This record gives sequence, structure tokens and C-alpha cells, in this order.
Amino acid sequence: TQRTLVLVKPDGVRRGLVGEVLRRIEAKGYALVALDLRTADEALLAEHYAEHAGKPFVRPLIDFMRSGPVVAAVIEGHRVIEGWRSLAGATDPTSAAPGTIRGDLARDWGQKVIENIVHGSDGEDAAAREIALWFPGL
Ligand code: ATP
Repeated sequence: TQRTLVLVKPDGVRRGLVGEVLRRIEAKGYALVALDLRTADEALLAEHYAEHAGKPFVRPLIDFMRSGPVVAAVIEGHRVIEGWRSLAGATDPTSAAPGTIRGDLARDWGQKVIENIVHGSDGEDAAAREIALWFPGL
């Protein structure tokens, strides 16, 4: 069975949406296998976003991700990587479909970084790498 990393980003935690995000995951039928509230540091985030190194939004993105606590989780189920990305919706909350977390709960504020409530690993290699990074020893 498959696992993926879920993050409720600082905007989601600040807005009190942790329960809503976890509710959608549980209602969909995925299993929680790890769950933790923490404030990520620079080193963890630089590694997490290594694929974006050099892009103009990576500095604002890391600063945003350090701006408050995040909820990190590992969830499990057949095809959960694709399923969680589908629940989250498109990266840009303005065009994310209604019914998705980003489509229902996020919007564009015109800032340098897109605040879109959640993160999900984008494939099996990324999921394995990110789970090892956020939950070493799991
Ligand atoms: P995530 O990896 O967080 O689930 P994603 O796969 O939809 O999101 P990525 O392309 O991996 O998006 O980008 C990671 C994050 O960086 C996005 O979720 C968003 O917060 C931010 N981001 C991506 N592209 C831009 C951009 N062009 N301008 C500002 N911020 C961006």
C-alpha cells in the first residue's frame, strides 16, 4: 500500500483549518499513520524544497513555511499520492476546482508566495524522500 506526506501549511494552521483538512482525509477513507505539529527550520525546508532551488519564489516560500507551525502527517492507502493531490486541488487556489481543499478554502492574496493551505508529495520518489525527511525512522 502507498504512503504520502501531507503538510497543513502555516496559513492553514493560522486559519484554524487543521481539523477541516484532517476531516476530509478521514472522510475519504485514508489512514493516518503519523501526525505532528511543529515549526520547520531552514535546513528542513531547504531540503524539502530542493527541487525548487534557484526559482524566484523559493525564498518567499521557505520564509512563509517558517512563519508558524505546520501540521505534518503521513497518510496511507491504495493510490493515496494521486488521491491526496486530488483532494488538495490545483496549486493556484484561484483556479483550483470547488470541492477541493484549495478551491474551497484558499484564495490569491497577491503575495509573492502562493498560500494554498496544504502540501502533497507529487510522486512515489518524492513521497519516500519527504517522509524520510519529516519522519525519520518511520
Ligand atoms: P505542494 O508541493 O506544496 O503540494 P504543488 O505541488 O502544487 O504544491 P509546487 O510546484 O511543488 O506546487 O510548488 C510548491 C509550492 O510553492 C506551492 O504549493 C506554492 O505554495 C508555491 N509556489 C509554486 N509556484 C509558485 C509561483 N509561481 N509563485 C509563488 N509561489 C509558488
